[in-house]
Parts: sequence; C-alpha cells; structure tokens
Amino acid sequence: MTKLPPAKALNGEKTGTTCDSCNKGIRTGDKAVAYATHYDGDGWIIRRVSCTDCGQTSIGLPTDGADEVVIEAVVWRNRLVGVTTVDRSRPEE
Ligand SMILES: [Zn+2]
Repeated sequence: MTKLPPAKALNGEKTGTTCDSCNKGIRTGDKAVAYATHYDGDGWIIRRVSCTDCGQTSIGLPTDGADEVVIEAVVWRNRLVGVTTVDRSRPEE
C-alpha cells in the first residue's frame, strides 16, 4: 500500500468534537490539533484530538515501529479540513 502524506490522507477524516485532554467542545470553525500514527499496512489513524490550548505541537520521544505525525486542522461538521503537518517522526518518508 502506498503511504500518502499525512496531511493529504487525514483531510476530511471524521473527528470527535470534544478535546481529548480537557473535554472542551470543539465547534465547527475551531482549530484543533491531532496526533496520528501509521504502522506498516495500516493507513494513518488519528489517536488523539485536542483543542489548541492542550494540543502538543511536537511528537517528543518517537514510538518504535510507527510513523507519527502532529497535524493542525479546522474542524468542520465533525471532519478535519485544511490539514497541515506540524511535526512528523519520519519526515523523510
Ligand atoms: Zn483542551
């Protein structure tokens, strides 16, 4: 399976509308920060969605075997749009 760039793969992805850290509501038009992983054979999977107050903008310690990414996006009717990559554990891929 070809690995898509995360910003492309996750654009339009469904998302919850509360911050995973503080439970604050994320409304349509709000910005959100999400963390996603890619293991061999899977696509990009969103693990965490946070408001911009809680969202970490760097990956920190990388996880073994995973390509990880932090993205910023606008939430629009339970979907992530306008996705941009903020940090990635394997920027060369
Ligand atoms: Zn929050």
